[in-house]
Amino acid sequence: MSPTRILVTGGAGFIGSHYVRTLLGPFGPGDVHVTVLDSLTYAASTANLDEVRHLDSFRFLAGDICDEALVGDLIAGHDQVVHFAAESHVDRSIRSSAEFVRTNVLGTQVLLDAALRHGLATFVHVSTDEVYGSIATGSCSETDPVNPNSPYAASKASSDLIALAYHRTHGLDVRVTRCSNNYGHRQFPEKVIPLFVTNLLDGKKVPLYGDGLHVRDWLHIDDHVQGIELVRTGGRPGEVYNIGGGTELSNRELTDLLLETCGAAPEMIEYVDDRKGHDRRYSVDWSKIQTELGYKPGKDFADGLAETVAWYRDHRDWWEPLKDRAVRLAGPC
Ligand code: NAD
Repeated sequence: MSPTRILVTGGAGFIGSHYVRTLLGPFGPGDVHVTVLDSLTYAASTANLDEVRHLDSFRFLAGDICDEALVGDLIAGHDQVVHFAAESHVDRSIRSSAEFVRTNVLGTQVLLDAALRHGLATFVHVSTDEVYGSIATGSCSETDPVNPNSPYAASKASSDLIALAYHRTHGLDVRVTRCSNNYGHRQFPEKVIPLFVTNLLDGKKVPLYGDGLHVRDWLHIDDHVQGIELVRTGGRPGEVYNIGGGTELSNRELTDLLLETCGAAPEMIEYVDDRKGHDRRYSVDWSKIQTELGYKPGKDFADGLAETVAWYRDHRDWWEPLKDRAVRLAGPC
């Protein structure tokens, strides 16, 4: 049987590159060819793909998902799309949202149109728990309505709705995943964990928003990749799957753990003005992917955090060049 040809958008970013390295690694399915389409924005790192660059089953293309001609040609030669490409940093969407609407909404629509025209088999759309908005208690299930607050979340919710509309209207096999906050190595040092870790490694304070009591669920990157792969291979068309990690922490609790792991004192916390419209708590119910597809997060949070900190300690060559860009665009996620 010929290999499944998968187009991965945004594969030079944090999650997309983990996904590609896993697909083409020793524990991957083995019967896939992967093309990465990535426009190499500030958030990308081509070094993220060094491990797979030499493989015959891998191809990289620098290009924009909004480029209709390019996307049409590419999708014609593929069986499946796993769509990660996005503007992903909430703070940047508050400062300026145009690029978020262009890439996250228009770019997704361009991909979906090409998928429909060329009879693509499966389209996995990677989204976020932020589309549900803030929830004081309990957890959001896949049938809850979207209620996004930040421009980032609104752009992702828009793209989810368009993706699901292509299933309902045209019968395209679209599957949507909505995950909680990812962590792990190779995350761009503007997001809270790598920002705080790299600050602490440099002996700098960490900027904690507001009262620090905003709550997030933390999902290790390997567990997220496992969830996406389960959805790609076994998910049902037109369905949404929440993916959580099972470790709910306030930002203050997270910061305390980071200080402890980095051997830093509580005085290294600098409370800063809260993010505008900062959602208090996100929480997703991920029992559907668990019961339907056998998803089970495997990474203990303390282990995952310690490994992540150790990786940043050992890979200054990776993050130092990116940190300048991050500082210019700064703010925790
Ligand atoms: P990232 O910012 O690290 O990577 C995004 C990648 O997309 C980059 O390589 C960038 O160059 C590429 N890209 C941006 N605009 C593009 C365009 N117009 N054309 C082609 N490529 C483009 O993001 P990430 O953290 O890896 O997130 C991946 C996906 O997961 C996103 O869709 C994001 O919304 C979603 N997500 C992320 C998290 C998280 O905790 N990081 C949580 C929930 C959902």
